[in-house]
Amino acid sequence: MTFAELSIFFQKLEATPSRNAMTEILAELFTKAGREEIGKLCYLLQGRVAPLYEPIEFGVGDKLMIRAIAKAYGVEDEIVKRAFGKLGDLGAAAEHISNQESRIRNQGKNRTIDNVYQRLVEITGMGGEGSQEGKIEALAELLGSLDALSVRYFVRIPLDKLRLGFSDMTILDALSWMLAGDKTQRERLEEVYNIRPDIGLLATQIKERGIAGLSHVKAVVGAPILASLCQRLPTADEMIKKMGEVAVEGKYDGVRVQIHYSKIAREQNSKIERVKTFSRNLENTTEMFPELQEVGKQLNAHDVILDSEAVGMDPATGKLIPFQETSTRKRKHDIQASLLKVPLKFFVFDILYKDGKDLLSTPLSERRKILEETIKEGDRGGMLVIAPQIVTDSPERIRSYHDEQIKKGLEGAVVKKWHSPYEPGRRGYSWVKFKEEEGKIGKLTDTIDAVVMGYYRGEGKRAGFGIGAFLVGVRKGEDFVTITKIGTGVTDEMWKSLKTAFSRQSSGIRPKQYPEVPKMLEPDVWIEPKIVVEIAGDDLTKSSTHGAGVAVRFPRLVRIRTDKSPAQATSVEEIKKMYREQGGNRN
Ligand code: AMP
Repeated sequence: MTFAELSIFFQKLEATPSRNAMTEILAELFTKAGREEIGKLCYLLQGRVAPLYEPIEFGVGDKLMIRAIAKAYGVEDEIVKRAFGKLGDLGAAAEHISNQESRIRNQGKNRTIDNVYQRLVEITGMGGEGSQEGKIEALAELLGSLDALSVRYFVRIPLDKLRLGFSDMTILDALSWMLAGDKTQRERLEEVYNIRPDIGLLATQIKERGIAGLSHVKAVVGAPILASLCQRLPTADEMIKKMGEVAVEGKYDGVRVQIHYSKIAREQNSKIERVKTFSRNLENTTEMFPELQEVGKQLNAHDVILDSEAVGMDPATGKLIPFQETSTRKRKHDIQASLLKVPLKFFVFDILYKDGKDLLSTPLSERRKILEETIKEGDRGGMLVIAPQIVTDSPERIRSYHDEQIKKGLEGAVVKKWHSPYEPGRRGYSWVKFKEEEGKIGKLTDTIDAVVMGYYRGEGKRAGFGIGAFLVGVRKGEDFVTITKIGTGVTDEMWKSLKTAFSRQSSGIRPKQYPEVPKMLEPDVWIEPKIVVEIAGDDLTKSSTHGAGVAVRFPRLVRIRTDKSPAQATSVEEIKKMYREQGGNRN
């Protein structure tokens, strides 16, 4: 398939607001695509050249792209800048110039998807001295060989501006549609995706072998497995009723780290060790934890995947350090400094894979035994610590263990069904969190993970930040509906971080994922659904304005959750449940 043919699909996808229509357009595209190109297509559709979890970047900003466009069409940078200023989008600007300058270049319509994809991969590989010029050269050459419509979409890919309004989940629907003409295969596809979230690999296997191809998609060390998530239940009695015998562990307030380790024997005494880590939103975080390169010393295994929570520990007092300080490692240059200041402990609570065997369907009771055989804790305690736990069927014991954790300064307890498999990505009732923060979060049984949808320009004190308040929403399928505006209870420090995050994700038009925002709530600036914030409030009240059906009373920003993806935000169903649990038919 040529890139020009693909661009006609891009255009159709861009024009349709309906998710069902998008699914059908994608299914048509996948049916047309060849076996060797469908995987690449799946990445390109989302402006990437690899699965989500590969830390691959184009390193192409507006400035560089302007130069590439100018070079491709033999015009001054100023001409491109002017078109960009007028049209507000470099893709449209390049298309416009390409149309005007078409007489001086060959109207290429024959570049294949494969060819464009390969060139983009090459661009991601360019680094070091002279790489800027190399990128301009490569981009200009490609631009010069594409027709005007292709140029519009091509330009947006390395700029991370393709934004067609769907994620891997809609692609799964479309793959089901391709196979069965409906969404009946979606659940099965998602199950496999949760174990190996590589949409390109999945699509290729299906195209080759039909639904049977799914049995070829397996967990491997080096590719993340979706993290198991916690459900909420209000009381310990309900937990025992629903789950039977349970393990209860402390809830550590740190960052989730999935640790992948493999030891490759080369010759007799020489071995190579590989360590990678992933966050709960599938980001490759290996660079954040350089100390883990030594993790092999504590492991009885050739290859292993561990699930853990990393928490800072004060070396002098042995006390755990709260999340905010642990997370200073988010910035690369801080890592070396904080390595010394805040040594981390990795509280390991699960093992998902060991020595060639996937343990996902093995019951937790068995996995715990394997975990205990795998980690060598040593006398003085290394960086890996097996998370302590108790096993019980008594609600009273859950409550007392929870209280002990709170006294130790932990966030609460996590209660896990003792004989359950590991459920990647699911919010089933295998794991339930027990957080009691009366007073701190009011009548709400928990905080809410919401997605920032847009902001309103500021007045008064906050005008300095240019933001007066922002609009947040909760998940409804793949879309988002509003739940509250937040303008107070935000520290200056937080406004600064928000401003930086907002400037990267602002959008001139309302993103497709927000189909139902009422006029009176429309923000001044829309924000792409990328930023997750944790909010607390006094309670939930019924609302006819907000799409969630309820609103948060006295909302406060707790923190920006860089470790969560919008797909992991709180859903409308969960909000409705929280509303019922606060015991109120208030208002
Ligand atoms: P929440 O983010 O409030 O839904 O709580 C779930 C998170 O708690 C997980 O994603 C982990 O990062 C964290 N966590 C802390 N301690 C544990 C534990 N013992 N077992 C599982 N998750 C834990």
